Amino acid sequence: MNRSEMISQIEESSKNWDIVIIGGGATGLGCAVDAAARGFSTLLLEQGDFSQGTSSRSTKLIHGGVRYLQQGDIPMVRDSLRERGHLLKNAPHLVKPLPFVIPAYRWYEPYYYTFGMKLYDLLSGKLGIDNSLLLSKQKVAEKFPNLKSDGLTGGTLYWDAQFDDARMVVALARTASEQGACVLNYLKVDNLNKDNGRIRGLIATDQLSGIEYSITAKAVINATGVFADSIRQLDEQTAPEIIEPSQGIHIVLDASFLSADHAIMIPKTDDGRVLFAIPWHGHLMFGTTDTPDVPIDLEPRPLEEEIDYLIEHAGRYLQKAPSREDVLSVFAGLRPLVRPAHSKSGNTSKISRDHHIDVSMAGLITIVGGKWTTYRHMAEDTIDQAIQSASLTASPCTTLDLEIHRSAESEPIAREDPELDQLLHPEFKYKKATIVAAARHEMAQTLEDALSRRTRCLLLNQKASLEAAPEAANLMAKELGKDKTWIKEQIDLISKVNWMI
Ligand SMILES: Cc1cc2nc3c(=O)[nH]c(=O)nc-3n(C[C@H](O)[C@H](O)[C@H](O)COP(=O)(O)OP(=O)(O)OC[C@H]3O[C@@H](n4cnc5c(N)ncnc54)[C@H](O)[C@@H]3O)c2cc1C
Repeated sequence: MNRSEMISQIEESSKNWDIVIIGGGATGLGCAVDAAARGFSTLLLEQGDFSQGTSSRSTKLIHGGVRYLQQGDIPMVRDSLRERGHLLKNAPHLVKPLPFVIPAYRWYEPYYYTFGMKLYDLLSGKLGIDNSLLLSKQKVAEKFPNLKSDGLTGGTLYWDAQFDDARMVVALARTASEQGACVLNYLKVDNLNKDNGRIRGLIATDQLSGIEYSITAKAVINATGVFADSIRQLDEQTAPEIIEPSQGIHIVLDASFLSADHAIMIPKTDDGRVLFAIPWHGHLMFGTTDTPDVPIDLEPRPLEEEIDYLIEHAGRYLQKAPSREDVLSVFAGLRPLVRPAHSKSGNTSKISRDHHIDVSMAGLITIVGGKWTTYRHMAEDTIDQAIQSASLTASPCTTLDLEIHRSAESEPIAREDPELDQLLHPEFKYKKATIVAAARHEMAQTLEDALSRRTRCLLLNQKASLEAAPEAANLMAKELGKDKTWIKEQIDLISKVNWMI
């Protein structure tokens, strides 16, 4: 993927795109893959970097959702499990099976949860990963030597899948591009163009060059997650708000706090929340929260009380209780939940994770809600709707079995130059070649793109990322033809953010 080549495609002012998608997260890029694979001329515009919104800040699970099973949302769980099965086949390099254990502390819980997870297995059907099992107290303690064993009565082992969300978004961008789509990061949509009351295109500004583009389209899709209302209000100023954001944060700890290759799932804390302790990229991720009434921002800030809540709960389950100093990183994301019956709910954890498609009088197609796991199904429904709304030539969806791009460029880059074969920083498994490949082939434009979303350094260990920043900035500058001022600016930008609050 090359950004200059992509930009040259939107410079052709006479082009009338079949489908233009606003938003480069899981939903938007899923739509771009689907539309391009059906043969439509497709353009996707993202105001920041690909996945800079919620899609790089998830719990990184491709799952049916045990919580939704508890809530009795069987259709949602069945659909998610079906999507999980297809993703394990279409992107085996990115989505991997992961065993989970639900530790039990009351005598009946091992039987209760094992029964529930057997239902989960049944709902997975032929696309299931492996069977759930009842575990004795000894087996749970063997698997998790660092889990507190006081009061443990046993547990349940079940299977779900884990992925790297931001890497998946890059892979989707590249799949869309291979199918013929034009995908652009740092292109912000500022306005919609109408003719006779119908949307005919939009105005977007390149955030890096300041150049404004007028783009014509037969169908415009609003896939902007928590920002969906701001685009809907460009269409109809008085459109009622439908998004009720809910913030979720994760803390990252050294892997030694759990020392296990299985994840832990706590289905119900005393205040009724779900918690996960998950091994990820050689670290331990612990989350999440569900905090309503937060401001909508591309860089949401974790709240002090959210961090305290997670540290306190980690201490309840782990033999060595973590302290604030043990937290290597914190990241926050906003769930784009849809208000029930368009009214404020007050309890975001109970809002359904189903997706909703809305078509305005002027033809703007808005897709909101859903989960990462179901992005493909959401895209299929959205493009079906676009075909109908814009009277495009009908063409069936082909993504159920479409393989997702597998990147391999950093390996030859590392082979060419022994210096680039070195690790970027001893804390991370990423080689310097990964940063070069990010700038050369993956449209990384800033140091933060490379450290947050092409690699996951900033999410794993913020102090080590700051130490790696000068080296990474130098490597990027060489690739992108940037000077010393750019290098300094990029390092300053990363350093001045107080990531840990
Ligand atoms: C804490 C947390 C944990 C989660 N864990 C899981 C999980 O484990 N598994 C799972 O299945 N789901 C999970 N989810 C849900 C999942 O992450 C989201 O449903 C999904 O990422 C939403 O993707 P999206 O593309 O709709 O939104 P986003 O990723 O937010 O993308 C929208 C994009 O639109 C862009 N945009 C906005 N305005 C404009 C404009 N004017 N011009 C151009 N671009 C614009 C934004 O910059 C943004 O990048 C989790 C969510 C949270 C918050």
